[in-house]
Amino acid sequence: MTRWNGSELTPLNDIYGQEIAKKILRNSFNSGRLASTYLFYGDDGLGKWAMAVALAALINCEKPVTDESGAAVDACGKCLNCHQILNLSFPEMSFAVPIPPHRSESDAASLILEYLEEKRKEPYKIITSTRQLTIPISVAREIKRKTAIKPPEGTKRVILFHQMEKMLAASADSLLKLIEEPPPETIIILTARDPENLLPTIQSRSQKIAFRSIAAP
Ligand SMILES: [Zn+2]
Repeated sequence: MTRWNGSELTPLNDIYGQEIAKKILRNSFNSGRLASTYLFYGDDGLGKWAMAVALAALINCEKPVTDESGAAVDACGKCLNCHQILNLSFPEMSFAVPIPPHRSESDAASLILEYLEEKRKEPYKIITSTRQLTIPISVAREIKRKTAIKPPEGTKRVILFHQMEKMLAASADSLLKLIEEPPPETIIILTARDPENLLPTIQSRSQKIAFRSIAAP
């Protein structure tokens, strides 16, 4: 383990503000009480995506950085798992993101890759389009299918559903089944601007974590 000196740009530490959210996630991780489903909510651009990626890194890091008491405070940002997670190429991290209308499954796959590429370069980027963006049902189904296979030993699977308000009702049904019977060794992270817009069943089965606006100086 690497001792933390408080100033390194490790994944969680690199996120601007949101100290309460970081503290909740660190404490849950250290006490072995991570929820199976989280709902990160708050305005766009506050770091919900970055926090989801940083949490995935923390729980899969090979050498987390620790404080004096030995508690893990952050992922190292350097090991193979961290590297792949931060690069959005970790095989056990799946992303359901809103994409524009598409003609085929392969079309959808390349639109998702484009989205991930944008987020890889700039995790805080708010991706918008003049066309209607939705999280396609095929993506939700594919993710559900993947979870039937256990992740490799010592690995936790992380599934990120980003911008839940863009999810079609049919996809939400498929997600609901996933949340109701959480697959082993899997953490589901949902992000949304306002939890009130989501199905009550989804809200009640998630641990909600608020992202606060950063006050102007
Ligand atoms: Zn690491």
